[in-house]
Amino acid sequence: MSTQRVAIVTGAARGIGAQVAHRLADDGHAVAVFDLDEAACQVVADEINAAGGKAIGVGVDVSDEVKVEAGVSRVAAELGAPTILINNAGIIRDNLIFKMTVADWDAVMAVHLRGAFLMSREVQQYQTKEGWGRIVNLSSTSALGNRGQANYSAAKAGMQGLTKTLALELGRYGVTANAIAPGFIATDMTAATAERMGVTFEDFKAAVAKETPVRRVGEPADIAHAASFFASEGAGFVSGQILYVAGGPKD
Ligand code: NAP
Repeated sequence: MSTQRVAIVTGAARGIGAQVAHRLADDGHAVAVFDLDEAACQVVADEINAAGGKAIGVGVDVSDEVKVEAGVSRVAAELGAPTILINNAGIIRDNLIFKMTVADWDAVMAVHLRGAFLMSREVQQYQTKEGWGRIVNLSSTSALGNRGQANYSAAKAGMQGLTKTLALELGRYGVTANAIAPGFIATDMTAATAERMGVTFEDFKAAVAKETPVRRVGEPADIAHAASFFASEGAGFVSGQILYVAGGPKD
């Protein structure tokens, strides 16, 4: 078992984030489960604790500067200095550009970009002090452009720029920053997309699988595996990278 670290996973009450939280706990890390609804976070934390891990649930809106400061301080007080950060919280507000509202644009920027910025700025204080840290940002294949997602694709491309800059600035303190860019992963988020398109989730997944080289859709565990690698002790010379986890080549 590797050295136990303290990890924060945002948007971890469900979907990819919940799976990443479980995986990091299985890897031996203490985990803070961050999401909007503290009760929902606690459900995931309870599952981790019941399985022999160590976790707390913390209700935090990652786009809120004051809540982020308070949430990260609570982690430091209850679990110890957080040195692994997974910026996973995300939302979609899809629409074609002519129908996209300013509210749709701002909401997506606030959670993905402002959220990842605020969380990284807060956690890097502990990482640089410890001389060790791992930041993993969730980008997406949508960063390459995706119809109906002007806001989301801009935010996910922005996550890649943020990742590379964090890698440049924080490397000298033993902190790496990398991004995972998933393809289609079966979660509530993609189920909502199917609903918006007026197709069943099963039909949607089958159509995506047919177009994917490995002939299946992704599962949250596929992303958790990549996050586990980037967070590991041995990945200290891997920084500023964008890993497409999409069942085939992208970009
Ligand atoms: P999901 O099932 O919708 O889960 C996202 C989680 O983020 C939810 O628990 C949500 O809370 C939380 N969240 C939303 N706004 C937040 C905020 N302001 N502060 C804290 N938490 C917040 O999504 P997912 O599919 O697991 O996606 C996770 C990440 O992977 C996202 O960044 C997404 O963009 C990215 N991604 C997903 C896919 C995919 O195919 N699923 C592909 C590429 C990238 P509520 O439940 O309260 O809304």
